[in-house]
Amino acid sequence: MAKKGLRNNFSKKRPYPEFCKSSIAMLLQNRFYMGIVKYRGVEYPGLPEPIVEPAQFERARQMLKSRDQAGERKRKHPHYLKGTIYCAECGSRLSFLLAKGKYPYFYCLGQKKHNGCSQKYVDAEWVEKKIEDLYKDIQLPPETVKKLKQIMEKEIVNQQASSILQRKRLIKKIEELNDKRYKLVEAYYQRAIAIDILKGEQERLVNEIGLAEDQLKVIDGKHENVQELLEMAIKLAGNCHKAYLKAEGDNRRLMNQSFFKKIYIGEKGKKMKEPEYTDLFHEIFSGDGLNKSDLVGTAGLEPATP
Ligand SMILES: [Zn+2]
Repeated sequence: MAKKGLRNNFSKKRPYPEFCKSSIAMLLQNRFYMGIVKYRGVEYPGLPEPIVEPAQFERARQMLKSRDQAGERKRKHPHYLKGTIYCAECGSRLSFLLAKGKYPYFYCLGQKKHNGCSQKYVDAEWVEKKIEDLYKDIQLPPETVKKLKQIMEKEIVNQQASSILQRKRLIKKIEELNDKRYKLVEAYYQRAIAIDILKGEQERLVNEIGLAEDQLKVIDGKHENVQELLEMAIKLAGNCHKAYLKAEGDNRRLMNQSFFKKIYIGEKGKKMKEPEYTDLFHEIFSGDGLNKSDLVGTAGLEPATP
């Protein structure tokens, strides 16, 4: 299998997109993805910029439900590809225009502002077709979907096992801290410690208990969400071409926004530049660090062959 997999190759004969156990595991384990950072062994929610934005989850969810998008803002020249497609030459956004009310095309906003870009106007229907073909190229084959699911399920079982341990430790810690609080009060009543020491120590203990309780909440709450999200994302990745062809305007927009940060549109006849995926789908589509034996060992299957 080619190391770079689908990301650099959009031919029909491309090998199966590659994925790696470690990237999925990382998504499950690395709290950075959920915006939780570790500081001195204690996790604090919300400190770093979350890598997987809650809005992305929401968008993907909405897409699954094919929710009615009637409420979306109507623009002067609306087109569902606006916001997703960018100029392959200069990287500016492409905008849409319906010339003389009947010739739909996209043009580079950078060129319009005289940035030196020479991208010509591109026929909107051609671009639409190009994106449909892109989905055909990225859709994961059923065997790959199956393997991804197996890897994910295994990871989740491992995760749950370690969560149970962590949970036990935290509950014990909270009990011990509460015990200390009780003993402090006793010491104060027996005049063994002064009031200011009691206050200071109580405050410290209450903080520690709060942090441990937050960690418990993280353990109890996060796994289901991540599992649900990954399951959905894998399912989508295995079905995206069909789904995209079926979808219309606003739902196509949602799909594009869920899968891609940017799709670069160049001139006709030229090879399409590699798109930028959203972080979630980058995890699924990227083949960095794939280890065959890892894959076979985990999934118990032969690796997919091109
Ligand atoms: Zn341009």
